[in-house]
Amino acid sequence: SVVARYGYEEVQLPMLEFTELFARGVGEATDIVEKEMYSLLDRDGESLSLRPEGTASCVRALQEHGLLYNQTQKVFYRGHMYRYEKPQRGRYRQFYQVGAEVFGFPGPDVDAELILMCADFWRDLGLADHIRLELNTLGSGDSRRNYRQALVDYLSPHAEDLDEDSRRRLSTNPLRILDSKEAGTQAILDGAPKLADFVDSESLSHFERLCELLQKMGLQFEVNDKLVRGLDYYTHTVFEWITNDLGAQGTLCGGGRYDGLVERLGGRPTPAAGFGLGVDRTILLHEVVHQNLMDSAVDVYVCYASELLENALTVARSLREKFPALRIRTHMGGGSFKKQFKRADGSGARVAVIVGEDELQSGQLTVKNLTTGDQKTRSHDEALVCVGQWLD
Ligand code: ATP
Ligand code: MG
Repeated sequence: SVVARYGYEEVQLPMLEFTELFARGVGEATDIVEKEMYSLLDRDGESLSLRPEGTASCVRALQEHGLLYNQTQKVFYRGHMYRYEKPQRGRYRQFYQVGAEVFGFPGPDVDAELILMCADFWRDLGLADHIRLELNTLGSGDSRRNYRQALVDYLSPHAEDLDEDSRRRLSTNPLRILDSKEAGTQAILDGAPKLADFVDSESLSHFERLCELLQKMGLQFEVNDKLVRGLDYYTHTVFEWITNDLGAQGTLCGGGRYDGLVERLGGRPTPAAGFGLGVDRTILLHEVVHQNLMDSAVDVYVCYASELLENALTVARSLREKFPALRIRTHMGGGSFKKQFKRADGSGARVAVIVGEDELQSGQLTVKNLTTGDQKTRSHDEALVCVGQWLD
């Protein structure tokens, strides 16, 4: 609903794409493509992969349907993504993302909008005080390439002292070395050339304008000059939303600008930006912050004397008709009222409706407020009204 409020349209993406799309779009040397994809051969021997992310698919789909050339687009997607990860809290092999992507807008205005949209989402969920925004600029494609070369020149003589992953990345994806958590590698990086010194003046003014817009909109952020993001396709702005409350799985959302991607996937040069937001981690953070577990699945539990199943089913039906939004569970499997009340409590229902012999004789029902313990025996219609009031 947040992205809809900003006038974004939904795009539905397939679960499977040609592996080639991700190899080209995400980048051969990224963790995702190098070691996290679920790939298979179809009957023609074509390699397909379960989607590990949405951006490359989104570009492919819009491109294929002629929705990119000479126009602007603002879209969002949602759905499961698949990565071969080491499963742990907040890191799953099937996880759920919501993402937004914009095409045809070169300016920092739309970068700011994407970030503000995320901020609205955290605010709506009551998480704004538990999450922070980090920003950086990678500069244009050229400045990124120049920096990459300077970083490789600086690090190569230290290759022996880098951690294993970083040593490998020196030839595949050197910018990712900045991300290394390893203390020895970080110490070497202290003396490395700074990305900021390579960023061209046009990118800098793009970035300064973005920062200014965010400030004017009352958003706090930190510039983190080591933030590079895992994916190959980013240029200019990159950002992450991070919490300290979920340990190592603290990044809830990552995004940025990727002006080169559409061209890289066979389209015409098209400015683009977007983010991917992890819903599973968002739910975990929500649980930590608001100490809530899942809502119960049941509002009303219908109990009945052993011979009165038919009457109970009829009462449940009239409840569902009168209150279409309520979740009504009828007890199944018989047993004493004591046992049935136990089940009613266990279901999380706030109200029990009791269909008993005596009540039935006099055309009445008993309703019990399971939160307060209040109990009333009333005519059928009045009893339903009472249920409505208790659950209002
Ligand atoms: P990480 O560094 O934690 O592996 P990432 O950089 O690989 O994250 P992105 O590709 O940017 O993540 O995906 C955007 C968001 O999707 C992440 O910030 C995170 O909230 C979520 N996400 C990514 N991978 C997983 C996963 N395996 N399980 C659950 N959520 C995930
Ligand atoms: Mg990852």
